[in-house]
Amino acid sequence: MLYLVRENLFIGNINAAAEVLLGDNKEITHILSVLSSASIGFFSEWKSSFSVPTKEIRTVYFGGSGESLEGDGSDEPKKILYVLENAGHDLKLVRMAVPLRDMESENLLDSLEVCLDFIDESRKTGSVLVHCFAGVSRSAAIITAYLMRTERLSLEDALESLRQSNESICPNDGFLEQLTMFEDMGFKVDHSSTIYKRFHLKVLGDLYNRGEKIDSSKFADDPGLTKKEASVLTETTSQKEIIPTPAFRCKKCRRIVALQDNVIKHIPGEGESSFEWHKRNSRNNYNKYGEELECTSVFVEPLRWMKTVEEGALEGKLWCTHCEGRLGYFNWAGIQCSCGSWITPAFQLHKSRIDISTV
Ligand SMILES: [Zn+2]
Ligand SMILES: [Zn+2]
Repeated sequence: MLYLVRENLFIGNINAAAEVLLGDNKEITHILSVLSSASIGFFSEWKSSFSVPTKEIRTVYFGGSGESLEGDGSDEPKKILYVLENAGHDLKLVRMAVPLRDMESENLLDSLEVCLDFIDESRKTGSVLVHCFAGVSRSAAIITAYLMRTERLSLEDALESLRQSNESICPNDGFLEQLTMFEDMGFKVDHSSTIYKRFHLKVLGDLYNRGEKIDSSKFADDPGLTKKEASVLTETTSQKEIIPTPAFRCKKCRRIVALQDNVIKHIPGEGESSFEWHKRNSRNNYNKYGEELECTSVFVEPLRWMKTVEEGALEGKLWCTHCEGRLGYFNWAGIQCSCGSWITPAFQLHKSRIDISTV
């Protein structure tokens, strides 16, 4: 079955997609396949008699264009972001295939914007079918995000609107959580926002917990090595002004160890566990002074200089890569800040070991 959502936009299941690919529906010109595999072979696994020709246009991987050949020794196969191909017996259909599993822990956000852009482009020249296996969770999550972005709808309103087309749609809870983040980031996937940074850290933590090797390719660039101008150009009321980026330096040797952009912000006292009654008490005392409540650490995203993290231990010390002075601690299972907040996983720099300055 295939359901009309908006003009030139349909949602359906794998049956609907198979019919389009076999040429039984002339109205659809573009297909967005969101299945566990990007390969057209998935269809013949599903139904052995199924066969349509395809011709690849391009395959795009996570982590950029691949122009820089970083020989970091990792033999890990690169993860496909999407495959774009012509499909059907006359190769007139355009199919974009995005590999995504219907699991709560699946990272939808990092694939979302290429999907939404494809839907946008497709609707300009034809009609697009967005489908997954059952047409209930993955395809619905993507179309929900599309309605949110194009019509500035809240998650609730977008879901409600999509249910008018097909009442059985039901994105999984993990996807709903990520769509809430998408709404909070202003209908985009903003990699510089705290919301995204926290999400990315959680994804890394999940990978670690599943026993996957976490190498530095998944870490943020070492700000002590980047040569590019670390100041950001910001437009203020009438003139353009260069706002220097605050940086954290090793107190001992002055090497830059993190930028303000690397900080994972937390609200003091947030997520504090209830059995820590003495911390709660001291926090309540501090609360009288509002914002004077001081954290003795900053928490950052994992950075490429954190060699001890790559060794795979659950927790360990963080050493300055220049002077080998101790800067802090990491723990994949989380660390409690002096304010009572739990940060999980945590990459902690002690404020007593670093200085804040501007780059
Ligand atoms: Zn804190
Ligand atoms: Zn140092």
